[in-house]
Amino acid sequence: MADYTFKLDELRNRHSKSEIVGSLKRYAEEHKVYTLSCREYDGWKHRLVSTWTIIRIFGSWGKALQAAGLRSQRTKKLQLRDMVDAFKACWKKLDAPPSRKQLEAYLEEHKYPFRWASYYSAYGGHLRLAQMIVDVQQGRIAESTLYRRVKHAPDRGPISPKLRAAVLKRDQCRCVKCGADPKRDKSVRLEVDHIIPASKKGQAAMENLQTLCFECNRGKSNDDD
Ligand SMILES: [Zn+2]
Repeated sequence: MADYTFKLDELRNRHSKSEIVGSLKRYAEEHKVYTLSCREYDGWKHRLVSTWTIIRIFGSWGKALQAAGLRSQRTKKLQLRDMVDAFKACWKKLDAPPSRKQLEAYLEEHKYPFRWASYYSAYGGHLRLAQMIVDVQQGRIAESTLYRRVKHAPDRGPISPKLRAAVLKRDQCRCVKCGADPKRDKSVRLEVDHIIPASKKGQAAMENLQTLCFECNRGKSNDDD
């Protein structure tokens, strides 16, 4: 009996969710976009199935996009609401404001269509959002403030020696990517790197800086190109 049910499902959904997700991701990669409409996908000559089928399988176009890690086509204001809700949920789960890594892992796990960088560009860092949430709770600012982007004057100057030393100390003088440690290997050269590059308005601030070894830092800038 189980076999027949399985066969019937197979007939109904000849393409699995993961195949469809893969196809949506391919579209996004090929076109270098973070979101796409039904019409755009239907007009693509490499499409896997019709968007009608995708909507039937996933429940909505937005859900399919979310499953593919793409942005659903919602307004910026709604996205900020989702970001605040996700941040609060993560905070609640950990019982403490999340670190950048914890927040990244949480967003990834729950397939949110935004990343830490989205918090950085909207609030100047997730810890600033944490402070704002506390301020709302204590009645110092209105709740609506959370759903507005913070205008922050970027400090794009060079990283001061003091700041550089503080970043190295926080990262325990090791490459945060590969763990290379100059205390163990004298050939290791550590650099302090902007996570969001200064050219993309990344600030020279603790939250946006990380310790990388020479190799990882070069690897990173190659990826960006
Ligand atoms: Zn490294």
